[in-house]
Amino acid sequence: MENTDTRVRFSGRFTTRKKLKKQTDFIASMRETKKRKTEEKCSQSSDLNPCEGRRIVDIQELGKNLVCTSCTECLSLQNVKSEKRLGLNSIFLVKCHRCSVLSDVATGKMHAGGRKRKVSDVNTKTVLGFVHAGVGSTALNKILACLNIPEMTSNMFKRYE
Ligand SMILES: [Zn+2]
Repeated sequence: MENTDTRVRFSGRFTTRKKLKKQTDFIASMRETKKRKTEEKCSQSSDLNPCEGRRIVDIQELGKNLVCTSCTECLSLQNVKSEKRLGLNSIFLVKCHRCSVLSDVATGKMHAGGRKRKVSDVNTKTVLGFVHAGVGSTALNKILACLNIPEMTSNMFKRYE
């Protein structure tokens, strides 16, 4: 008879402690590799290209906002350091090439929404358009994915709806 101490249950099957340790070590190492890869990917994309793809912008508003808050020098979209997205509206953090100060640059206008909070025009108008067309957030995100525009979460769609 085999020593029961060395036999343990794992995923509904009996296995030896040695085999189980090997298995769990393997799973842990796979997780570690995956984590490292995604971290590398994230840091790469944020360092080299903080904002990829297309955005829906208000040309006049973007042009007006592309000014350094410190020295009033015109800013370049090639110096974007990070991006904060609120649905389809983005706020870029742009570094000034002259004084190196970081300024917030919004891609569209905001307006007062319910409960004293500001909401962005582009989100309201997009949701309004989709409700008029009789389609929901799934259809919107399919179109956005084809256009290489970051998606709007279904929660946000519902909130604007
Ligand atoms: Zn400046």
